Amino acid sequence: MADNPAWARATDVHPRVVALFVLEPELLTAAGPHRRRQLLHHLHALHDSLRTEGGGLTVRSGPAGAAVTEVAREVDASVLYLNADYSAFARRRDETVIGALADSATAVEIFHGNVVHEPGAVLTKSGGLSQVFSPFHRRWQQTAMTPWPAGGEAETITVPGADLPVPDGGESYQSGGEAAAWARLNDWLERVDDYPDTHDIPGVEGTSRLSADLRFGTVAARAVLDVVGTHSPGRAAFVRQLAWRDWWAHTLAERPDLPYRALRPDYDRIRWRTAPDELEAWKQGRTGYPLVDAGMRQLAQTGWMHNRVRMVTASFLVKDLLIDWREGERHFRRLLVDGEPAQNGGNWQWAAGAGPDAAPYFRIFNPTSQSQKFDPDGTYIRCWVPELGELDDKAIHEPSKLGPLELAAAGIRLGDTYPEPIVDHKAARERILAAYKQALG
Ligand SMILES: Cc1cc2nc3c(=O)[nH]c(=O)nc-3n(C[C@H](O)[C@H](O)[C@H](O)COP(=O)(O)OP(=O)(O)OC[C@H]3O[C@@H](n4cnc5c(N)ncnc54)[C@H](O)[C@@H]3O)c2cc1C
Repeated sequence: MADNPAWARATDVHPRVVALFVLEPELLTAAGPHRRRQLLHHLHALHDSLRTEGGGLTVRSGPAGAAVTEVAREVDASVLYLNADYSAFARRRDETVIGALADSATAVEIFHGNVVHEPGAVLTKSGGLSQVFSPFHRRWQQTAMTPWPAGGEAETITVPGADLPVPDGGESYQSGGEAAAWARLNDWLERVDDYPDTHDIPGVEGTSRLSADLRFGTVAARAVLDVVGTHSPGRAAFVRQLAWRDWWAHTLAERPDLPYRALRPDYDRIRWRTAPDELEAWKQGRTGYPLVDAGMRQLAQTGWMHNRVRMVTASFLVKDLLIDWREGERHFRRLLVDGEPAQNGGNWQWAAGAGPDAAPYFRIFNPTSQSQKFDPDGTYIRCWVPELGELDDKAIHEPSKLGPLELAAAGIRLGDTYPEPIVDHKAARERILAAYKQALG
């Protein structure tokens, strides 16, 4: 509510507004337990804060196209205000709503509260979207912000509808609501200056953990940028990540197939393996590579994974197992509390080498040296793979290289309490290079 341009305009222009949320079955089913739970916590908090002002959230379920037009008719709405979303699903939904209202007395006004700059606002000299991130970033910094309206004092009225489902008893990733999100942002201000030194170390709290708030809109990217600023190297490095976020949103707006089709078409000629057991071992965090397993377990248990580890686990699936990146994209999108098609699709394309400005395909992460470099004392591994906890800082990265006595001393039985590596990295490297060469010529 504090930094939402659609809400601001509505409350400024009209004496009475309806705050409507539509529970779309398709979206609720697509969201895994973490995102669904987090969403419900946020919605309850939103309802409570609207109630303290005398109103409340109006909730409907069903496809948004029908639900929104129904409410608009019931209250004789003069304007429908919304923030755009850029996925193929969201665009179809918004087009349905706009189409259904076309012959009615309800006008539609669209804002872009989910991004810093709206798609189409950051262009190259020749008027297109940059296919390389750095020039996009430069332009992004130079682009003037479309002003957002200031909010007003409208009364929020509710219309009867559905009840908000009660979240299941599981622990939510973060506490719900806007005040909690702003508290996280304020807390981050204490640490943001260290970002260049800490952001790559999964064993410390070195990143903002704001991704889910940005995804749900409990805090807007523009507000984060505003509060953090760019006046230290740490702050500038952090804000650069918000430009990545915009870049993928702009790319999705241009290419709605971002989560489904390689943006460099040659990459769809790669002959991926069908290996359901290996895919399952990856999902469960039982690959025998400790950093990969730690990341996949953190994802399964909490709905979040550290960015460095997302890169390593994604690379492992694509390059070590030669499994189609779309399998990983789907799994992440379902489980991630911050999962969204633009960021997830874009980053998976990046990991596979298939997207714009992606890492060259022959740059293949070694999961063991990534582990030694970014989790040098094994803090992160020990947290998520406790069965390796007794190993020393050096041995923890590669238990399969230890002798029987060392393993026994740490209480590990390879192949039983902890798996043998499901693939040999060196051989897998040769295999993927051959597959890429064959596809790309
Ligand atoms: C395979 C893979 C899948 C990913 N899927 C998602 C996803 O579904 N949703 C999502 O929000 N992020 C995704 N990311 C990007 C990144 O991992 C997360 O945004 C980040 O880990 C969130 O933690 P944080 O808020 O502490 O990040 P911070 O380091 O504090 O970064 C601040 C913000 O910048 C943005 N950001 C940071 N890194 C990236 C990036 N690489 N691409 C785009 N935006 C970025 C996020 O909004 C983040 O909250 C993915 C990365 C990879 C490698």
